[in-house]
Amino acid sequence: MPELPEVENNRRYLAPNVLHKKITEIEVLKPKIVKQNSQFGQQLKGLHFTSLKRRAKLLIFETNDSNTFVLGHLGMTGVFLFNEANFESRQESDIYEDPNSIYRHARLIYHFVDGSQLLFRDMRMFGYNIIATEEEKNQATAKYGIEPGLANYTWENFQTIFNNRKTSIKSLLLNQNVIAGLGNIYADEVLFLSKVHPKRLVHSINETEKKALFKNVSEVLMEAIQRGGEISYSPSEEEEEASHLYVYGRTGQACKVCQSVIEKTKVAGRGTHFCCLCQKAH
Ligand SMILES: [Zn+2]
Repeated sequence: MPELPEVENNRRYLAPNVLHKKITEIEVLKPKIVKQNSQFGQQLKGLHFTSLKRRAKLLIFETNDSNTFVLGHLGMTGVFLFNEANFESRQESDIYEDPNSIYRHARLIYHFVDGSQLLFRDMRMFGYNIIATEEEKNQATAKYGIEPGLANYTWENFQTIFNNRKTSIKSLLLNQNVIAGLGNIYADEVLFLSKVHPKRLVHSINETEKKALFKNVSEVLMEAIQRGGEISYSPSEEEEEASHLYVYGRTGQACKVCQSVIEKTKVAGRGTHFCCLCQKAH
């Protein structure tokens, strides 16, 4: 599943390619992706994107109409791809299943005036592209909590997220309304680096551990963004397993710090990887 670094990577890859070009046509191949909005194409035709921003995992396309935005979410398997003009013709009807085609799992295609295209690919179709007014856009972004990289990510704000919580620390780190940006992979990595067992209850986390968490949440995400995320989004490459991770996906392998075996359990309904020697359970 794309996490924040992958979404940010997708944003950085797209922005130089899709801005300031008039949208001439939109092909909605799967109406579910636009939440059954039959006017989706008509509402955007003739406009152009003026900037591409991100809040948590939501991509926000601004247009030259100040009250029209496109909110894009990658869901489980979504990704935006830019297609140069005449990159590939679509003669074959099975092209949407062809593993070598850029159109594989394409659900939505924006056509620009210069012949280039913006594709939204999404095998499992949990992602979406929706049109929003400014007010709707503000409502959608207001629900997210403090976010590394934004001005609201301060030590003062970070301390308050621990107040009156009865959940596990992992559950807290995954709660996007409290702290935006950490998915399952990075939550496990942050907890390992902070030497905190994922099942620990929030109220048991001491000051030193909070400081470590504050630092590691930000560092893990920023490093992952620099690296481009864990998943490659170039059209031909499949998902790669990342070798730099400490615990995620390393069940049964040796801990890189203490050589103990990395274990897997379930916390907050999610597969959770940890080292029982490095991460304190109390
Ligand atoms: Zn260890």
